[in-house]
Amino acid sequence: MTTLLIAEDVDDIAMILKRVFTRAGMRVLHAPDGAAAFALAVADHPDVLLTDLGMPRMDGWALIEAVRGHEELRDIPIAVITGHLPPGDSRVPQAGACALLLKPCPNEELVATIRQLAARGPHGHTFSPAGCADQA
Ligand SMILES: [Zn+2]
Repeated sequence: MTTLLIAEDVDDIAMILKRVFTRAGMRVLHAPDGAAAFALAVADHPDVLLTDLGMPRMDGWALIEAVRGHEELRDIPIAVITGHLPPGDSRVPQAGACALLLKPCPNEELVATIRQLAARGPHGHTFSPAGCADQA
């Protein structure tokens, strides 16, 4: 079973995401900020991380950096979910994330993207401008 860790500070959105991915057959963990998400990631080693960007304590960018800098977590696939970036924003792959989902995102796209990342599994990142796609 795929374990998905969701970092999302808005309760309503977190609840919806939890429901969508639980229905898709995944084990879902949730943290309300980046710092809590990082602690959960260290403790539980999820298969995929889905993170919001704007969050208290530690934002999504800092969370991605912390995960990519952690010896045991660095190869976890990461998807970003936000309403505040244009499609295909180059900062996302540059930061070391693998996919960008824009709010509001259709449930089928959410599930398909996370399933793809789970199927691909852990993989390395070189932090080049081409980012994750370069590693496919
Ligand atoms: Zn990747």
